[in-house]
Amino acid sequence: MPSRQRPTWSEQLRTRHGGPVCEITLDMEAECPHREGLACGDCLLCDSHGGDTGAFLEGRNLKGQILSGLDVARRRFHTDRVILYLQNHSTTCVAFDAFKNRIDEALVIAEEAGAIVVGLSVGTRPDLVVEDVLNHLVALGGSGLEVWLELDIQTLDDAGLRYLRRDHDSRCSLDACAKARRRGIALCAHLISGIPGERKDQLARSAERLSQEGVRGYKFHPLHVLADTELETLFRRGEFNPPSLEHYVESVALALEVLNPEAEIRRLTADVRPPRLIAPQWITAKPRVLQALTDRLSRPVPALVRRAAKGESQALSEVALHSFFDSIAPLYEAEGRESFSHFAAPSRIAQRFDGGSLFLVALRKGQIRAMAELRPPAHLAMLFVDGDERGQGTGRALIEAIKDEILSSSKTAGHLTVNASPNAVSFYRRQGFLGNDEQTIDGIRFFPMTLEFR
Ligand code: SF4
Repeated sequence: MPSRQRPTWSEQLRTRHGGPVCEITLDMEAECPHREGLACGDCLLCDSHGGDTGAFLEGRNLKGQILSGLDVARRRFHTDRVILYLQNHSTTCVAFDAFKNRIDEALVIAEEAGAIVVGLSVGTRPDLVVEDVLNHLVALGGSGLEVWLELDIQTLDDAGLRYLRRDHDSRCSLDACAKARRRGIALCAHLISGIPGERKDQLARSAERLSQEGVRGYKFHPLHVLADTELETLFRRGEFNPPSLEHYVESVALALEVLNPEAEIRRLTADVRPPRLIAPQWITAKPRVLQALTDRLSRPVPALVRRAAKGESQALSEVALHSFFDSIAPLYEAEGRESFSHFAAPSRIAQRFDGGSLFLVALRKGQIRAMAELRPPAHLAMLFVDGDERGQGTGRALIEAIKDEILSSSKTAGHLTVNASPNAVSFYRRQGFLGNDEQTIDGIRFFPMTLEFR
């Protein structure tokens, strides 16, 4: 249902495999070293199921799990096509031979039961991604299966990872992605929204950064309290407030907006119920959550604003030049157009990164749609919003982000200058800038303007 012009994962699978595909979640009886007292102890949110079905705890062996999953696939989805999802604890936390044998066993059981196994998905922690496992996944992919590695990344905010007591950092997650990507293994990231202290757009930031690392699939869920977890203790003491439905929907909408349209969104919320679920209770009303997300996506969603990297100089230049020639160049003589073309060339932008300029970008659908340059200490050297991104509040969002950067570096009242092009003066006035005197240098017409802010 929810996303804007984005096919659901079911639709994407149906297109790839010529019919409906059902995911069967399997508890492979793996363990997790993090549950056995690593430096920080267990993850804050982990219960005895270790994030899975708990099938083995309930006495259901592999064969029983596959047969009941296949029964559901046939009755509810009228299909024999399945993806086997190996999920419990950290699936790769077994000796390699045992890992390989359990997969072989699962494939044989499924095929003997008449399933058409089209894919295999292996879930684990980023710090348990080892060479043997990756090489075996490559071999399985070579046999025609659609093979995924699902990483419990949760967030790329290191403070958030510490709060969750994950005992690994964001670098570890990015390294695991790089190892899998180099082998051509499809990656799916599990991400959490609602970690105390996180930014409103942290889910989108994590997803966007991971997309640069080649992550193709995403499973989103809110941080929730399960029974018999450390998080339940904090919740009972009033030291943890679960995210509201509104916070969650906004964070997922931002993430969906920033990802490119080919990203595969495999989960939009958590699927857990009482008595295992303690809070928040809104999770149990899944149709309401999905409807709230659909409603949110029917209204404008802000672009994600973040710092740009020097490696993005080419893309920054393209946005600046495209926007300039689209809207400003007709106001300038040839000399001014040429001056600006030099100023906005990729090599000149890269030089200004080295010279201390800070560049910000606004992203939507996997593309840079707007950019700004802050030249130290406080001069807005460029601000361009491309094409249909105009009129969506993106220019204002970039200025707000620039103001935050100035305040966080100086910790005092702010002062920002800009040389506004003639057709941008009214925009800057609306943001509070003052200044009226037109000047021309090297054929470039501009109005020096100043903003004082706190
Ligand atoms: S990594 Fe997963 S299974 Fe291990 S302690 Fe954390 S949540 Fe539990």
